[in-house]
Parts: sequence; structure tokens; C-alpha cells
Amino acid sequence: MKQPPIALTIAGSDSGGGAGIQADLKTFAAHKVFGTSVVTALTAQNTSGVLGVHATPLHFLALQLDAVLSDLPPVAVKTGMLASPEVIAYLATRDLPNLVVDPVMVASTGKPLFTGAADAYRELFARALVVTPNLPETRELLDRDVATVEDMAAAAHELAALGPRCVVVKGGHLAGDAVDVVWHGGELSYLRGARVSTPNNHGTGCTFAAAVTAHLALGSSLPAALRAAKTYVTRALAGSADWRLGSGHGPLSW
Ligand code: PLP
Repeated sequence: MKQPPIALTIAGSDSGGGAGIQADLKTFAAHKVFGTSVVTALTAQNTSGVLGVHATPLHFLALQLDAVLSDLPPVAVKTGMLASPEVIAYLATRDLPNLVVDPVMVASTGKPLFTGAADAYRELFARALVVTPNLPETRELLDRDVATVEDMAAAAHELAALGPRCVVVKGGHLAGDAVDVVWHGGELSYLRGARVSTPNNHGTGCTFAAAVTAHLALGSSLPAALRAAKTYVTRALAGSADWRLGSGHGPLSW
């Protein structure tokens, strides 16, 4: 008998299937990693926007987490949309191995999914192996403009001071090639990928962080997991670049 590697996602459900829990479990499965989940919120959402968010009560979120951790111990854990500052603060009190924190605050469509999270995230970052903010999230976290690769490097350095072992500031919102800035072990490096021009980018951030988590669950080193995830997400974007699913920002392939 053998146990497949287990990963856990703590995130919101996206009824449109493109982001959140749905993207994470799909990405885990594509990597042959067994996925477990703690649902933080239901979103009523499609490719055009978010109609509503219904948060899971904290006690029931905690019960899901206890159920998973006591029976299906994950090798790596990812957080996505955490729905309230209280949930973020609660998770900062839990022991979560190989923690990948994607500080989701704004939907790809630009609509805030919840507010008031930046301060709470500082606590959770201290417990993380890696944090993966995109440019809008980095601005929100640091409360200043971050517009260039140089700004991203300074931001990565500043976020690293909060305690995570690694920071990836994702450059998907920059013009030109998609460059992500990585701070790890006191050194800066870059993840580069060709820009895939497509409206179908809903769930890109979730997919990247879930792919990192999957590779960590498979035993990869962190640098190898980041490189593999970058390749995976670029390929997933290319695979669905000409899909027609919904009338807005469609999902990625896998
Ligand atoms: N999680 C949920 C439940 C969402 O609805 C969204 C965006 O709408 C995200 C995460 C973040 O999506 P993305 O990966 O496109 O940043």
C-alpha cells in the first residue's frame, strides 16, 4: 500500500470554476497530488464578475481544518481567498507545513473580494514558506505604488522582512514579458515567461500557487517548485488562449 502525496488548499469556491478551490484541486490533480480542501467562502461568480460572497463561519472553517489535518496530513498547504481578517489571524495560530500564501484580495475582474486584510496578512506571512502577491496585492500590502521590476525587487525585500522564507512578487500585470521577482535566502532572482496574450486569465494566480504547492508536496526544492510552476502556468495559459468559455475572463487550461 502506498499513500499519494497530499496537499491542502484553504480557499474560496468559485462557482465559475476558473479560480479558487476549483483551480487548486484541478492543478493538484494535474500533478498527481491528492487534494484536500477547506472552503473559506462560497462566491457566486462567473467569467464576468462576482455577484456575491458568502463566508464560512470561522468555527466551521476550523472544523474542516481539524478534519483534514487529523486524518489526511498534507505535505504542503496553500491559502487563497481567506474572506476576512479574522480568518487570516486564525490561520496564523495554526501549524501548517510548507505554507504557500497567495494573498488574494482582489478578483481578476478588479473587484475587491474583501477588505481590511493587509495588516492581518503580516502575521500569516511570518509563518509562510513562500508568499506570492501580484502587483495590486503588493501595492495593497505596502500601501504604495509598485510599478517597475526595480519597485518589485524593493517590495520583495520589504515583505521578506515580515518573516517568510521566500517572496515572489508576480509581474503578470506589467507590460511586456511576465517577469516575477523572487527573494529567497537573501538573494534576488527572476522567473521569466513569455507573455501569453489572452482574456482567459481568470485563476492564473491560484494556479501558480497551487502548482508550487503540488511540487512541494512531491518533494521538490522551493526553487525547483517555483520554476516548474512558472512553466506550468505559462503552458496552461497558452492551452486555453483561444477558448471561448463565458463572456468575460475565461479560465486557464490545465
Ligand atoms: N479565489 C477566489 C474564490 C476567487 O474568486 C478569485 C478571483 O476571482 C481568486 C481566488 C483569485 O483569482 P486569480 O487567480 O485570478 O487571482
